[in-house]
Amino acid sequence: MKAKVTLLSGDGIGPEICQEALKVLSAIEDKYDHEIEVREALFGGIAIDQTGSPYPDQTRVLCKESDAVLLGAVGGPKWSDPKSETRPEKGLLDMRSDLGVYANIRHIKTYPQLIENSPIKNKYLENVDIVFVRELIGGIYFGQKERNENDAMDVCQYTKDEIIRITQVAIELASARKNKITSVDKANVMATSQLWRSVTTDLIESQFKDIELEHILVDAATMHLLSRPSDFDVILADNLFGDILTDEASMLTGSIGMIPSASLGNESFGVYEPIHGSAPDIQNQGIANPCGMILSLALLLRHSLKLETEASAIESAVNETLNQGIYTADLSNKDVVDTATMGSAIASNIL
Ligand code: NAD
Repeated sequence: MKAKVTLLSGDGIGPEICQEALKVLSAIEDKYDHEIEVREALFGGIAIDQTGSPYPDQTRVLCKESDAVLLGAVGGPKWSDPKSETRPEKGLLDMRSDLGVYANIRHIKTYPQLIENSPIKNKYLENVDIVFVRELIGGIYFGQKERNENDAMDVCQYTKDEIIRITQVAIELASARKNKITSVDKANVMATSQLWRSVTTDLIESQFKDIELEHILVDAATMHLLSRPSDFDVILADNLFGDILTDEASMLTGSIGMIPSASLGNESFGVYEPIHGSAPDIQNQGIANPCGMILSLALLLRHSLKLETEASAIESAVNETLNQGIYTADLSNKDVVDTATMGSAIASNIL
């Protein structure tokens, strides 16, 4: 098949891990006879440096002409001055909103090979298999913002339609799994959460009686994720709570470097990126774990290009590489390999 993918390597470790995803893509093209045109565009801090905007028009056009976007990560200390006019992360929010990708799907599954690497006791980690559905283009990240020297404000707003739209994604995923949704909110104090709770309840109880719906407050959710992670199936959360909880949940797998994500809208188009940030603390050291990035490529092939066999081949290659004892520094204390060696090993395990 022929397809167009826009690559946004971004900042920090973004370019390092994107290189490894390209190696794997090349192995997939050779093996399965596809022609996937990859067009790179400026995004994030590097785009601010070169154009003044974290999401320049040229990048916007390329993204919209593509079948999918593959994104590394953005941000870093160079662009973190709270007084600066714009920041790389603003580009991220603008891009997600502009491309209409409202559902961020993050799958947290423990790898038996990495169980020892998790800070959580092994007995809690068996059978952990959670799909997070995070609302991505609404809520407090997108509400009215104001700031002066003495006070600041971020408005959190959700409409009924936005809540229905994201709940439907959770319902579709839960229906193909264990028919269980845990919806996270802060309905004891927040008006948006009260609306969230009543809309999810009405929709599921009236039309999807097979689905078991559990509501849980976000503060309790942070505890339950660690004390009973295998009880969860699909977790539905708003933008802010989903952002925080998925970083916490990544520690169940042992490293944030292992987790991919898909941001989807109504059509097959999507934005695919690892859940971690630009990790400036390990930038240019050759030690970043490329697995979350490479597994994001697998999600791109599955969801946007409908190449299930090829997506599974990448997931099996990552698994096989871990079976071979090939680990980056975040996954083990001894005999570790660098980013490029890990990426090459995964590419050579594409069968
Ligand atoms: P981070 O996710 O970049 O890093 C957190 C910790 O995890 C660091 O110790 C880092 O070294 C480690 N880590 C992350 N990815 C890793 C990998 N692939 N391999 C090995 N270790 C890895 O979060 P942060 O430090 O809070 O943020 C750094 C910058 O990234 C900030 O500017 C933040 O705004 C930005 N950020 C961007 C995105 C994105 O681009 N989607 C997401 C989150 C944060």
